[in-house]
Amino acid sequence: MKNNIEQAFEKLFPYYLDQLKELVKIPSISFDHFDVQEVLRSAESVKELFEKAGFSKAQFLMPPSGKPSVYAELMVSPSHPTILLYAHHDVQPEMRRELWQSDPFLPEERDGRLYGRGTADDKAGIIVHLAAVSLARELWGKNAPNFKFLIEGEEEAGSSGLEVLLAEHKDLLKADAVIVADLNNIEKGTPCITTSLRGMSAIEVTLSSTETPLHSGSWSGPIPDPAQALCRVITSLTNEQGDIVIEGFYDDIIPPTAEELDSYSKLPLGASIFKKDSHLLENVALLVKESEIPLALWRRPSIVITALESGNKKIAGNVLQNTAYARISIRLAPGMDAERSTQKLIDHVQKNIPYGLHATIEKESGADPFTTNTNHPYFQKMKEAMTESFNKEAKFIGCGASIPGAVLFRETFGEIPILLIGLEDPESNPHSENESLDLADFKKTMIAETLFFGKLASENT
Ligand SMILES: [Zn+2]
Repeated sequence: MKNNIEQAFEKLFPYYLDQLKELVKIPSISFDHFDVQEVLRSAESVKELFEKAGFSKAQFLMPPSGKPSVYAELMVSPSHPTILLYAHHDVQPEMRRELWQSDPFLPEERDGRLYGRGTADDKAGIIVHLAAVSLARELWGKNAPNFKFLIEGEEEAGSSGLEVLLAEHKDLLKADAVIVADLNNIEKGTPCITTSLRGMSAIEVTLSSTETPLHSGSWSGPIPDPAQALCRVITSLTNEQGDIVIEGFYDDIIPPTAEELDSYSKLPLGASIFKKDSHLLENVALLVKESEIPLALWRRPSIVITALESGNKKIAGNVLQNTAYARISIRLAPGMDAERSTQKLIDHVQKNIPYGLHATIEKESGADPFTTNTNHPYFQKMKEAMTESFNKEAKFIGCGASIPGAVLFRETFGEIPILLIGLEDPESNPHSENESLDLADFKKTMIAETLFFGKLASENT
């Protein structure tokens, strides 16, 4: 089967690469204050691609923001499983133009990579779905599974309308499995399925002591300093290894499966690579042993103080400040609940505020983490398809960040398999300057997804 598919893509790949380049030329930035017409133009182009490929019901699904998602489908038989294919057509802003080696919206090939904004994140994801479904229809015809495409238009702006879209079009989008092509491989040439995502919870804390700042010579001593008090509160959250000591915080964590652990142990995530990639300064220690890096990144919660303020560097005179502020952010491990975890954090902070200082605590809307049951046969089939296509064993990895879409699919469709794959590698620089896509991996991912569909088709004969 692999040979047929490879041969077909030998011929078809230049066409799909051209289509990708055309999409990259559209600066479909979904942030506020950018031209929404460009997002509409890119949605229109995606819709035309699906129409040209002969898929039916090609249409916009419009969220409140006016940045459309694109839907299309290929229904083969009501008795076949239906696969929902997700990617997004909006992109990040170009950031610092002077750091780009070529125009971010004029795609350029250099050394086997395609450079341009949205090449890897995530316009290649759209083309992979388009190419794989088109070939699957040609090769397996009436045995092919059913396909539905959902190409979002505001993922980079936080997917604020996706929940509404999924609720409004639940029947139209209903599927037996989802493939999200918006993640990454751990390295170029090593295919990966992401099986967990961390969630997110954050609060802002302000401590106050007096009504106004005071002369430190005249008043400090008897009167407490809110900055030091807030630092005490912050250090009470963790022990010296960085483990969170909030009561019951680790109770709901779902540990990785044996298969996930086995995958983690074979990843190129050694301490030296990790230190180099993070630009860690000399002699700065990591908080965990080398073997625990994947666990600490993907399967445990971590606390970061993203802002800390009392007084101001520019006018740091001898003043006893009257307030201190911190934003405390926590990445949540799979299994944890954002709402409950935020409450545990608030309870802990409140209990640890010294000297009766006044506190205001504001919570942000968090994001739940994500795990998926990898026992579903689709995971094995996808792993086999990727391994075959890349000629290298596919791995299960995690992701330390959050993707709202994955959690929303789970909430909308229940316990169906959600396969998270992607086109990014450590050189891709998504969200930064000189974003790029490895063209060999682009083709291999098309082949892998087609092979996966072939495995499903073989069950429909
Ligand atoms: Zn993306």
